[in-house]
Amino acid sequence: MDCPLAFKKEKLRHLEDGCRQNGLAMTVQRRVVLDALAERTDHPSADQLYDAVRGRLRGISRTTVYRVLETLVGIGVVQKISNPESKARYDANTVRHHHIHCIRCEKIEDMHTPALHLAQQVPIATESGFTIVDYSINFSGICPDCRS
Ligand SMILES: [Zn+2]
Ligand SMILES: [Zn+2]
Repeated sequence: MDCPLAFKKEKLRHLEDGCRQNGLAMTVQRRVVLDALAERTDHPSADQLYDAVRGRLRGISRTTVYRVLETLVGIGVVQKISNPESKARYDANTVRHHHIHCIRCEKIEDMHTPALHLAQQVPIATESGFTIVDYSINFSGICPDCRS
């Protein structure tokens, strides 16, 4: 599913601001990867992003896409999301939200169910002594496309 255009532009501007605030120059490679990530809502893998950008920027390599993603994750503009596959999946939305993973086609969508706003019930530490700084909840299921 593609984002509406206005939303995509806003998201892209926000991502570019995040890069600039972290002193990261907006190279053509970074821009094309951010662009490809901002227009998707299915939480693509690095390989899927490479497939999306190779037609737009001649000569961009898979390694470059991987490296750009690591840089963006490193400064916190993009997040790597946990999922049942071993392959990392990427999300340009770093505000806390939850995910559902389709066990058949492996697409990952956002979940914004109000009942999942657990701020009041989330503990601040674990029994073993961890201080909790963040959390996310991952669901698995079967998407409407795969069910029909
Ligand atoms: Zn599916
Ligand atoms: Zn997400």
